[in-house]
Amino acid sequence: MAAIVLAAAAAYTVSTASAAEPTSLAAACWPGGIARAQSAELKPVKGPRTFDLAIPQQSLAPARAIPAAWRGQAIRRVELPKGLKLVALTFDLCESPAEIAGYDGPIFDYLRTNGVKATFFSGGKWLVSHAERSRQIIAEPLFETASHGWAHRNVRQLSSAELDREILGPQRAYEALRGTLGKAQCAIQQPAAFNALPQRIGLFRFPFGACSSTALQRVHDAGLLSIQWDVSTGDPDPHQSAQAIARAIVTQTRPGSIVLMHANGRGHNTAAALPLAIPKLKALGYTFVTVSELIAAGTPVLTPTCYDSRPGDTDKYDRLFPIVGVRSEPRHDFRTTIQR
Ligand SMILES: [Zn+2]
Repeated sequence: MAAIVLAAAAAYTVSTASAAEPTSLAAACWPGGIARAQSAELKPVKGPRTFDLAIPQQSLAPARAIPAAWRGQAIRRVELPKGLKLVALTFDLCESPAEIAGYDGPIFDYLRTNGVKATFFSGGKWLVSHAERSRQIIAEPLFETASHGWAHRNVRQLSSAELDREILGPQRAYEALRGTLGKAQCAIQQPAAFNALPQRIGLFRFPFGACSSTALQRVHDAGLLSIQWDVSTGDPDPHQSAQAIARAIVTQTRPGSIVLMHANGRGHNTAAALPLAIPKLKALGYTFVTVSELIAAGTPVLTPTCYDSRPGDTDKYDRLFPIVGVRSEPRHDFRTTIQR
């Protein structure tokens, strides 16, 4: 464990020559500190089709090869060496067509203030519509940036071209944002810190947690690991209280768990749940790591299908969020279902 933490910290350490010198790109580029939560950013805003942003024109860095034994399968959790108590908190940043989703500032503020690592599965469209916040997340050593599809479409119903758009769109958005970050004076002055930022996103979470064997293969062709979860907090349900979310986190987490939450304004009581759950997990001896660090520390538990709590349970989204052609709009009815 110590080796993992030290390696990650070292990657972002620029220099110890001067005590005044920033130690991370986030500190260098936002020297006054990252702007804290603003209430206007929290709630998703519905709007016209002009909210449907274009995928950035961006050529991509070469994709890494996914291990043959992992191809065609999704990772639900990680089996760890005995005694190693690591857990990965994950937050989805879903953004559907015809909306600008929220930025749940109190969640980011709490994690930063308390030095808690986390992974953000971001829609590509969310990355573009929240460009400054996205650059802050990318530059933050505590956070890993991962993909949640371009516009939260059910990949089981997409054509081949649309599937590629959904999978590669966030990659283009990430690399474009990384590129603009790299042109900033703060990054030019901190080349080691900038170069430590991953060139590509390495992880993908399917919108709604729903996939097909074709989609799994395409994700792996794109050099991405498919990440599900084994702890579902139910946080998109407005009726799920902070206490209930915290209880789900604390009682269901075991070493190697991946915890699903939302930070796009639809994790209604998530921010209030974190101060309830995280100190308890710390007291139980858990260390918080990113999903990539968790995978590097053990052996992924793989399944050939994607699901929430049991195989087949995300197939319902074929009916609840039907996609008819490219420009259709998913329905959002949180009285009858939960958008994951
Ligand atoms: Zn989602």
